[in-house]
Amino acid sequence: MTALEVAVVGSGPAGIYTAEALIKQTAALTPPRAVRVDVLDRLPTPYGLVRYGVAPDHPSIRSIADYLRNVLEHSDVRFLGGVHLGDDVTREDLLASYDAVVYATGAMRDRRMGIPGEDLPGSYAATDFVNWYCGHPDSEAGAFTLDAESVAVVGVGNVAVDVARILVRDPAELRRTDIPQSVLEALMASKVREVHMIGRRGPAQAKFTTKELRELGELAGVDIVVHPDELDLDGSDPTGQSAQLAGRDRRVRGNLAVIQDWASRAPGAGAERRLAIRFWLRPVAIEGTERLSGLTAERTRLDEQGRVTGTGQVETIPAQMVFRSVGYQSVPLPGVPFDERSYTVPNAEGRVLGPDGAPLPGEYVAGWLKRGPTGVVGTNKSDAAGTVRSLLADLTGEGSAAARPSRTPFGDVLVARGVRPVSYLDWLRVEQAEAELGGSLGRGERVKIGDRAAIEALCRPPAG
Ligand code: NAP
Repeated sequence: MTALEVAVVGSGPAGIYTAEALIKQTAALTPPRAVRVDVLDRLPTPYGLVRYGVAPDHPSIRSIADYLRNVLEHSDVRFLGGVHLGDDVTREDLLASYDAVVYATGAMRDRRMGIPGEDLPGSYAATDFVNWYCGHPDSEAGAFTLDAESVAVVGVGNVAVDVARILVRDPAELRRTDIPQSVLEALMASKVREVHMIGRRGPAQAKFTTKELRELGELAGVDIVVHPDELDLDGSDPTGQSAQLAGRDRRVRGNLAVIQDWASRAPGAGAERRLAIRFWLRPVAIEGTERLSGLTAERTRLDEQGRVTGTGQVETIPAQMVFRSVGYQSVPLPGVPFDERSYTVPNAEGRVLGPDGAPLPGEYVAGWLKRGPTGVVGTNKSDAAGTVRSLLADLTGEGSAAARPSRTPFGDVLVARGVRPVSYLDWLRVEQAEAELGGSLGRGERVKIGDRAAIEALCRPPAG
């Protein structure tokens, strides 16, 4: 029997875990079925948010990167970088070339707050800042000059924690990480002394995880400030929702213990930088004209139904920069169904559903594009395995079509479109160059190259 041919669009964790699940689950079939998986990415570089989302001072992620690397190096998996679904190839091309297509393009757009002043100079999406410090090729090296003394970070999820930590951490501690050299220099020159992280609900409703939160308190030279009145679980919450959450969720209990501990400490004397973690404040406007001057927020409480509501009392936090870290959103893929309310691809256990609610043959979805931007990197492993179970049930299970229609080789499509993909071996030249850069700068194992032209030159040297 011929090998099953599957295209996975997106080489982030969801895409690569999908490739792995395809290899493992086809091998476990009786009899085993051969499979060939092409993992496409619009970027010349693989690994998605593992390379361009995980903060440089979180190297424990390295083991995940090594795991994903093993999948890409499997003989039945091929990396095709620099191939954009939309600009280079179409959904129809993929469906004509493969037995099945799995969309795993994640969530790469930031959500907006919808308040006045959001587009003022100095107001940014946290995703742009994350892209910058991770050396994303879409981000310019000079995209951020940290000349603000006071910064507001809106949102109390793990991305907000990452952004706040990178802003207040002593940049000398980042020297041994893979942070791009230009970013390290910008952080060395940073004037930021005060960061305000702002939650629109209470500490029990905050989304961050305890390990990430606790890390903020371990930063040298950083004073953590919390307002004891904002920790009163019942004061702003007549329903008792906060206490219930704390009762049943270990993460919430852990977060509250960490925050209460900070509240009970005397302010540190002479700390270089200050991080204030604020709650029950809903941003209503970003202030300023030519330059941003502050963030105005309304104090909130929960109403009888447990919904957040304003009290009319406002406060302006002085800030010359604002980062909105209020979640990611997926973007629609050309021709692929998309639900504009949930910002996901409508699906049933990973099977893409058409407008009539019926599964579209050969089309599947995995990761954040399937379920929204939640969970940690590893969450995508079980998510991808679920999608692959659906795919194999449809393509190899009882009643699946035995005859395989003739396919257009995808290589022919790429040639016809003038697209020269970046192979895994091409990509390894970037890894090599990053290791050499780390050595030549005396900074350690590896320093990321973020410049798109430099990456392109390494991946696609002139032929001949
Ligand atoms: P998130 O966890 O969904 O947090 C978003 C935050 O923004 C919430 O506090 C939310 O408050 C707030 N928010 C939403 N709309 C708002 C508005 N209009 N005004 C004010 N606040 C608003 O999203 P994320 O931080 O982007 O993280 C995405 C995923 O990546 C999460 O699963 C996260 O755990 C994961 N991640 C993990 C790590 C790690 O493991 N180290 C690092 C980074 C990201 P409400 O709850 O009130 O809506």
